[in-house]
Amino acid sequence: MTKNVALLGLGTMGGGMAGNLLKAGYSLTVYNRTVSKAEALVKQGARLASTPAEAVKGASIVIGMLADDTASREVWAGSHGALKGVQQGAILIESSTVSPAWIAELANLASAHGAELLDAPVTGSRMQAAAGQLTFLVGGSNRALEAATPVLKAMSKEIIHLGLVGSGAKMKLINNFLCGVQVASLAEGLAWIERSGLDRDKALSILKTGAPGSPLLGAISERMVNHNYAVNFLLRLMTKDLAYAESEASGCGVHLKTSEAARGLFESAVAKGFGEEDMASVIEPLRVM
Ligand code: NAP
Repeated sequence: MTKNVALLGLGTMGGGMAGNLLKAGYSLTVYNRTVSKAEALVKQGARLASTPAEAVKGASIVIGMLADDTASREVWAGSHGALKGVQQGAILIESSTVSPAWIAELANLASAHGAELLDAPVTGSRMQAAAGQLTFLVGGSNRALEAATPVLKAMSKEIIHLGLVGSGAKMKLINNFLCGVQVASLAEGLAWIERSGLDRDKALSILKTGAPGSPLLGAISERMVNHNYAVNFLLRLMTKDLAYAESEASGCGVHLKTSEAARGLFESAVAKGFGEEDMASVIEPLRVM
């Protein structure tokens, strides 16, 4: 049976994910606050709903890909929110990077509406979303994950079940904590290299091929060097992820001092107007003497 799927949120990530659901043959209804972002998908066969509640009517699987807790709360639980329209037995998948506290609340709301929630945030960025090569970090029941797996497979290269609902959200914050700290330290390291008199390319090559090297360091250093801030990951979203990570770790008795320092760099870049650029632009304020 072809499942009716709804996808709420067509930003950098949601747009690519929706394209892959259409390619896989799903009957897809989409919702986005800014309607123009749905135009290309409608041409490819998606139906466009004017509210989240309308989008989820008749859908057995509903996916949210939204900016943060505020956006997720608005789209799921707002006055025209998806929960108002979900059918009994639907599987709701929150793929946004949101706080585990909101996931716990949303799971209760879902069950009060006769639906079940999986939290399934992703690793991978704009390109992986477009290519159907994301990794889903999933929390929730085996039963719900089994029902959602074919739909998740259409957007991913890997699906990792971490445990109960909320486990995916926790793991995602740990992952992005390490990413945010690395990008911030790279920004400082590269700003230092650029003023040090060292050959920049040689210095970066030593870092990339040596112990500090990582896929993230390779990709972000390239963007920093080329001043290429076309959005793969909005800078302001990393500020949000680090704030959620600090709060979550603090609940486990761990004080993320390195996250606070990194977040300081991202926040000063937001204050200087780089919030809507790629997170690699965090280096720019450091380049100004
Ligand atoms: P994005 O491009 O900023 O898209 C955010 C989406 O949320 C858009 O659909 C936006 O609608 C919607 N939204 C924001 N505020 C809203 C509100 N108050 N009410 C209703 N809708 C609202 O972000 P993205 O890069 O696609 O990321 C989506 C999620 O995935 C985020 O949680 C992000 O942290 C996470 N993530 C991103 C990446 C990445 O590399 N980009 C990777 C992994 C995870 P409009 O279009 O109307 O603004």
